Amino acid sequence: MLLVAMLDGERIDATARTPESWAALQASEDRKRLVLPGCNIRAVAKTRGPDTRFFAHHQGMDCAVDHGGESAQHLAMKEALAQGIDAVPGWHAVIEYPHPTREWIIDVLAISDDRHHRVAFEVQLSSQTPANYVRRTQRYFDSGAFPVWLVPRNLEYSPVRIPTVVTGFGKESEIPENHADLLNLEITHNLALSQGTLGDFVAGLLVNGPQGNPGSPQEQQDRMDKERKRWIAEQRADAERLVKAKEAVERTNRGSVAPEKAFGPYTVHTESGPFVWATLTDCWKCRQQMMVWEARSLRPGEQYSSAPRVSVKAEVGQKRYENHPDVHQAVNTWITRSGAAATKAQIETRHSQGAGGEYSAFVCPSCRALMGQIYIAQINTEHWSVISAPLLRRT
Ligand SMILES: [Zn+2]
Ligand SMILES: [Zn+2]
Repeated sequence: MLLVAMLDGERIDATARTPESWAALQASEDRKRLVLPGCNIRAVAKTRGPDTRFFAHHQGMDCAVDHGGESAQHLAMKEALAQGIDAVPGWHAVIEYPHPTREWIIDVLAISDDRHHRVAFEVQLSSQTPANYVRRTQRYFDSGAFPVWLVPRNLEYSPVRIPTVVTGFGKESEIPENHADLLNLEITHNLALSQGTLGDFVAGLLVNGPQGNPGSPQEQQDRMDKERKRWIAEQRADAERLVKAKEAVERTNRGSVAPEKAFGPYTVHTESGPFVWATLTDCWKCRQQMMVWEARSLRPGEQYSSAPRVSVKAEVGQKRYENHPDVHQAVNTWITRSGAAATKAQIETRHSQGAGGEYSAFVCPSCRALMGQIYIAQINTEHWSVISAPLLRRT
């Protein structure tokens, strides 16, 4: 069932006819020259019941053109949409608009009177694969019309968003006597305009344009591809960073040695002074060896028979115990008394990229390169030894 036929190049719209003029057309000699738009196959003017007037292909003629659904429900919905569109100031409807390539017919095309805007309303009552929705939706965008699909129920999920209005009105639904009553259907849609009746939707869409327009399927696909490429590049960069960080830790460990291994065991003992552990590590930049240390104070009442294992802080603030005068003194004493040719690292305030704040960092005494605390914390225990400890007692 179709609503438009052509007579000598002129559109004959079945919805615009009175019962009398329809009957006259059916009886006229003109009827033999009626053809359908798109395929140019001879059309027959038909009637069903008191209100339904439509055209059909002449019996026995094969047609390759996609005219859209031909059920009575499909036809009623097209009529209702056309009326909804014509009721919006500045817009008019063209029912069964043949695409210039003549391969397909747009069910109802809304055209703004200034001809700058076109919205294609496509009534799809039969099920259709997601791939077909994507292909046909792209076709509208490519021809400069924003498409809207009117479907009876929600489409199956597709990563590409298709502008859709769910009407609840399907192939088996009862048709109201006045087809325009279909504009009162409560609908849902995915175009971010307020929800309401079909008539409200048509008016809102034409007046305000599509809100949250997802773009054509091709544009959406391009965005998804781009996002995926970006994600892969990010994963790769993360993996590379991890490898580099791991290499840096390994390099630091290869360039670190415990003072007792380098110079023989020697510990400064104080009455109640700090525990100080040290490692001799190479500057990652200039390769100069320097001593860095980790310290903790003796807590009141604590007694040890041996020094606890070193536990290096991974994060330090602006104040750190390693920079306390007592600790500096312990390190200096160890260097003097042991006679070791060790050079102390310096402690300076630096900005931390990770934590976003200031912290007191070890820096190379010759080139002032930062020795990241995160790397110092990953120097293996075997490369540290105690250089200063309180007098140890048997517990
Ligand atoms: Zn045809
Ligand atoms: Zn250096």
